[in-house]
Amino acid sequence: MVLHRFPRKAFSAYSLSVVDPRIEHMSESLAIEALVRDDPVAAARAFARGLADLAPESFCETDLVDVLGELETLKCAAESAQAVATRGVYAAAVARQRAAGWRSSRLGQGVGHQVALARREPPSRGSTHLGLAREVAALPHLAGLWAAGRVSERKVSLIVGRIVWLDADDRRGVDAQLAGDPERAERLCQMNDWQARGAAEALACAADPAGAVRRRAAAEADRHVTSRPAPDTMMRLSALLPVKDGVALIAALRLAADQARAAGDDRTRGQVMADTLVGRVTGRDPLTDPAPVTVDVTVPLDALLPDGSHDGQAPHAFGWVDGYGEVPADLTRSLVADAVETLGVFRRVFTDPATGQLVAMESAARRFPALLALLLRRRDTYCRTPWCGAPIRHTDHVLPAEEGGPTSADNGQGLCEACNYAKQAPGWRSKTRTDPDGTHVVETTTPTGHTHETRPPPAHPPRSPRE
Ligand SMILES: [Zn+2]
Repeated sequence: MVLHRFPRKAFSAYSLSVVDPRIEHMSESLAIEALVRDDPVAAARAFARGLADLAPESFCETDLVDVLGELETLKCAAESAQAVATRGVYAAAVARQRAAGWRSSRLGQGVGHQVALARREPPSRGSTHLGLAREVAALPHLAGLWAAGRVSERKVSLIVGRIVWLDADDRRGVDAQLAGDPERAERLCQMNDWQARGAAEALACAADPAGAVRRRAAAEADRHVTSRPAPDTMMRLSALLPVKDGVALIAALRLAADQARAAGDDRTRGQVMADTLVGRVTGRDPLTDPAPVTVDVTVPLDALLPDGSHDGQAPHAFGWVDGYGEVPADLTRSLVADAVETLGVFRRVFTDPATGQLVAMESAARRFPALLALLLRRRDTYCRTPWCGAPIRHTDHVLPAEEGGPTSADNGQGLCEACNYAKQAPGWRSKTRTDPDGTHVVETTTPTGHTHETRPPPAHPPRSPRE
């Protein structure tokens, strides 16, 4: 541990002792190390409580810089301890599953989700943490630097990511070359994250040049396009491409921008490149042709009621665009106008004005189950697993249909694919309830008995009660 290097003043409460302060200091840090070893949960909570009270005005500038540095060390050491605990959870869970008679191909299922829920992160991150924790265990030098708080989880994961494809002997070889003696270890600690990643990559390619070529071919097979929302109702589109295709694509967009600008177009280069991308992929000129999108317009139920029922407030009207998410009222109006013109689709979704929760949805021709699925997607917005945030892929019976769970909005939830499969692992239980204010709650219990609750986001801000 690093506590003995905290500024002396942090322990000033103990300096009243008649014992030599250095010995007192040492016994203090031994006591803290014993607490961390014997009851890490209590120790971590005590650290968090103590650090929350950090009073910068009690320390000089030099001490505070020391505090910054030592807290960084503590953070890195805590991440390493999380990896150690993660391996422990994995081993215990697999032992439990094996004792319960699971097939060996299913052992370990759901453990990434347990790790993610405990760390308050999306389930996909849980699998990443699990993989890193298991990989680093076979790299003693890197693991030692991490445990000592000298390298961060980010640096460790960048290094491991570049050598994970090597066989076990080669991985250990790279570990020794990177950090096998104090001089190399110090050099690794001084590298920034990108230098460390580059060093690991170079050593990996040198250890197995043929493997590096095979790996490049496999990486090309992983090419794909993703999107995510950006601020101000924009969307960020990303493509992972083989370098030759990526370079050709950018060159084509730059050429289009140069030609347009030479012909007197007053758009910026960036604007021409973006418009050209949209135009060539969709076959539609983004400047002149309206977009055929599906828009759901969210309206409070009482907006349909006769006058005098609105508390004098104008009805809210938010839009929801398939493949993007919520859009503000002014954009909704323009998209609906486009939808009418292009034979796109718009539907109305009704909300309870008090809670903002979805209560109904209109549809011209949809079967009930399909409409229910749409309602669940709109109500839950993203996968209902806490901190997941992935797009909804499955509509799920919270209490399974085989156990008599009804096909209803109350017993339904939207989940991403990974979370739906994790939920089906033995030892996981879910149930729903409705809070007194009408909010839909899903309660998930993991195999260790930890429970987590989720509520859907309001479709619009709840309206204040009538005065
Ligand atoms: Zn999920």
